[in-house]
Amino acid sequence: MSGHRVLAATLVEPGHYELREYPLPDPAPGCVLIKMEVSGICGTDKHTYQGYTGQYGGNGTPRQIPFPIIQGHENVGTIAAIGGDRPYTDFEGVALKPGDRVVVGPNVSCGTCYYCRHDFPYYCCENTVDYGNNISAKEPPHLFGGWSQYLYVVPGSFLVRVPDDLPSDIAVLTEIMAVTVGLDRAKQISSFPNESFRFDDTVVVIGVGPLGMCFVMKARMLGAGTIIAVDLSDYRLGFARKLGADVILNARKTSETDRLAAIRELTNGRGADVVVECAGVPEAVREGLEMLRLGGLLVEAGNFSDLGEIRISPHRHLCAKNVHILGVGGEERAAYGPSMRQMARYMRQNPLNEFVTDRFGIREVEAAMKKSMAADSIKVVIDPWA
Ligand SMILES: [Zn+2]
Ligand SMILES: [Zn+2]
Repeated sequence: MSGHRVLAATLVEPGHYELREYPLPDPAPGCVLIKMEVSGICGTDKHTYQGYTGQYGGNGTPRQIPFPIIQGHENVGTIAAIGGDRPYTDFEGVALKPGDRVVVGPNVSCGTCYYCRHDFPYYCCENTVDYGNNISAKEPPHLFGGWSQYLYVVPGSFLVRVPDDLPSDIAVLTEIMAVTVGLDRAKQISSFPNESFRFDDTVVVIGVGPLGMCFVMKARMLGAGTIIAVDLSDYRLGFARKLGADVILNARKTSETDRLAAIRELTNGRGADVVVECAGVPEAVREGLEMLRLGGLLVEAGNFSDLGEIRISPHRHLCAKNVHILGVGGEERAAYGPSMRQMARYMRQNPLNEFVTDRFGIREVEAAMKKSMAADSIKVVIDPWA
């Protein structure tokens, strides 16, 4: 296969893409070459493009993006070649062969740091490398992101075979759907008295971009009561309603006081049992805390990149509220297979086929990026062969 050239959109610095050609590599033993089919634009990609390049700052020392990079970590493709002659299986133990359609897990954990050894998720790994995000395209084999015709998968990665009945334009949502394990964790917490998230609990999702949209779906799947979606875009709110939201609040047309009053009215004056913050706006965290009932639970998933700081009242927002805050820095690997299978079920009753609103070719990533930030888009994807 070598000798061919591979086209990849390369982000050389924030705000600046170049279409570059790279050699097509043969995969080394234990490595896999994926022929890309579709790759999503994630909120993280937007933040990196805008210059928010600090990530994984939980230990006080954020890591910086090693430009140039090939973005794209929501990846669906088919196996072009598997290096070496040892059998290769997916995350769930299914044998893989060339031609199989897979989602590529975006993260490679080191397996040997304190957090890996104690079974923390990838985003706590001290040495995590993420396809499409923090692996430089400078060194061969270069192809470490999905906005490319081929993706090079290194040892320690995980692939998950896509069920035959799941279209690639829905499989491309698997990574963000897997981030909704935040609500599975909340379910576990609810085994303690008075803790959310229980059957029929009121759930507010702030920000129904693609991630928030997946949280709406997941909340519905897990038995939420009233689901309230908050966003700046009527277009997105309309789709959130189709996916399971009962009440929608446009934050451009309402004040914070209006929104708080609406939520209290829906909950006999108490406030929401669960708030999921997916707006990726620091200030939304404070508003989310305001919306909670006493002892409520905030899932914070939106500020994956460092977007700044806010002021809160430790008395009112934390102590006197008995609040529970669950920081969710990403997905868990075991959530990929279940997310795909559950989306395949959900799409029978819900218009999941409308989730991808726009498709752009490899020469149009700049336009794709702009569209992904527009109020009239939901999930925007790159088709590297278009
Ligand atoms: Zn992402
Ligand atoms: Zn590690």
